[in-house]
Amino acid sequence: MSVGALIVAAGTGERAGGGCPKQYQPLAGQPVLAWSVEAFAVAGAERIVVAIAPGSAEMAREAAGRTDVMFVEGGATRTASVRTGLAALGDVDVVLIHDAARPGLTPAMVAALVQAVNAGSDGAAPALQISDSLRRVDAANHMVGEVERSGLVRVQTPQAFRGAVIRDAYAALSPDTTVSDDLAVARAAGANIQLIPGHERLMKLTYAEDFAVLERLMDAVNVTCVGSGFDAHRFGAGNHVTLCGVRIPHDRGLLGHSDADAAWHALVDAILGALGEGDIGAHFPPSDPQWKGADSETFLRHAAQLARNAGATLQHVDITLICERPKIGPHREAMRARTAEVLGLPLPRVSVKATTTEQMGFTGRGEGLAAQATATLSRPA
Ligand code: MG
Repeated sequence: MSVGALIVAAGTGERAGGGCPKQYQPLAGQPVLAWSVEAFAVAGAERIVVAIAPGSAEMAREAAGRTDVMFVEGGATRTASVRTGLAALGDVDVVLIHDAARPGLTPAMVAALVQAVNAGSDGAAPALQISDSLRRVDAANHMVGEVERSGLVRVQTPQAFRGAVIRDAYAALSPDTTVSDDLAVARAAGANIQLIPGHERLMKLTYAEDFAVLERLMDAVNVTCVGSGFDAHRFGAGNHVTLCGVRIPHDRGLLGHSDADAAWHALVDAILGALGEGDIGAHFPPSDPQWKGADSETFLRHAAQLARNAGATLQHVDITLICERPKIGPHREAMRARTAEVLGLPLPRVSVKATTTEQMGFTGRGEGLAAQATATLSRPA
């Protein structure tokens, strides 16, 4: 069963202020848009499409924080944007349509919605009870009547649908019709919709003060963890070393059971440290012949997957190489880019640097090379 996500981010969000549309403004350490993109990616969505306003592709790409996202230019209305986005998403079994202005999305919510569709509903959406009284008012804010709140709920996004149901529903909608949301489109086509319990953290960012409220809601359920790692390998015969997955020509090689990539080994230990998941030796025992000569990318991808399984989000990594030679400087950007690519992180959240030990100690004498790393993760408390 394939799952696709369509994030609608084509609005201009003027009420929120801040100089640029709210979906590109920072919230709890990363752009608003990145939170939803990440939640869908972690939940296993195979395709993620973001509908954006014409001319904002560069801003959107930077804010999304991942490379495996497709951007399409939306239309003049939300309905038009969804039509374009659905076409780009193609033939997936389950489609989730989400507003970028609701960044409090969690992978668990995505999973619950997909499950509701799998259980037999044509569509599903999160909804909350209403505890305040409802009144009808006129344009001058004079009360003109009561509204019975029993039987009413507040609906949020994402809204999940069988792919064929929502595609057909939009196809049946006359081109000039504008509707309030996708549930309405599906309902008009006769779909049965299951509402599941929503969450306050899925609140919609509308006004500038909403950002602080949502940050507090998100903080209440996430904790920041920093893990550290260290590794060292001895030099031996060879003509290159591999550091951060980059082959660096050298008059010596590094000895080790795997490819001896000390930089990524330290980073794997840092990620495992932030997760409380032991060390690299426990996950990939040197005594196990299957890891002989292994590409350390396997280890790094495994650590990143463990983080995703724990519902954690990698925020930042920092690697320091400790050696006299080879010179790291000329290869630093390639090492950074490769690490960012494997972890699916934007470049500014990956740091690679180097130092010598002024010819002191084992690295100073050129006996070997060492690396240390930190990894910062945000994870459910
Ligand atoms: Mg090692």
